[in-house]
Amino acid sequence: MEANAAILIGMGGLGCPAALALAQAGVRQLTLVDGDRVELSNLPRQPWYRTADVGRPKARVAAERLQKAFPGLAVRVVAEHARPDTVAELVRGHDVALDGTDSVAAKYFLSDAVARTRIPLVFGGVVQFEARAFRIDPGGPCLRCLFGEAPDEDEVPTCSRAGVLGALAGVAGALQARLALEPDDASGSARLHVLDARGELRVRTLSVPRVAGCPGCGAGRSAT
Ligand SMILES: [Zn+2]
Repeated sequence: MEANAAILIGMGGLGCPAALALAQAGVRQLTLVDGDRVELSNLPRQPWYRTADVGRPKARVAAERLQKAFPGLAVRVVAEHARPDTVAELVRGHDVALDGTDSVAAKYFLSDAVARTRIPLVFGGVVQFEARAFRIDPGGPCLRCLFGEAPDEDEVPTCSRAGVLGALAGVAGALQARLALEPDDASGSARLHVLDARGELRVRTLSVPRVAGCPGCGAGRSAT
């Protein structure tokens, strides 16, 4: 698949570097979705933002900077959070979506939406010294195949609670962009990429099978 239009849901530590990598790769249209405003604590790992931007909508600031750096790029801004009832409309017309959220609930409803929208999603997650990236194609496997049912939000370490190695988020976002540009895969299995930055950077790639009857991508869905 040639990705001409990509949507980034979350413009934080993953979305910022992913947007740069997609623009560099020649993607012609980017939609930036984020309801947050720039905070001082974002600056070390979210390189589109400056001190003077604190308080401004992240999606708008990132769009301005991307537009300056890549004058031929079409950038659209959605300065609100994606929700389960808006995600299908948001992703419509794009070739691929990238998850840059920091919320378990958001990651699951984005994964569930792939079966409905038929638009692939590249999941990303980074906490402390470990990052994960995983491409979800229509027909699965999906996040529920990989992790099972959604855990309680409070029980999962997120980057806002547990902290994150900023440079690792940069690598993970760039990896998400690369996965977004891969051709569609209807093989029924997928690869989970795990980056471990404790000590030297190690990368593991694990095969993830589709779980029969999975409520996210299974039951009544067929791979295309
Ligand atoms: Zn599944």
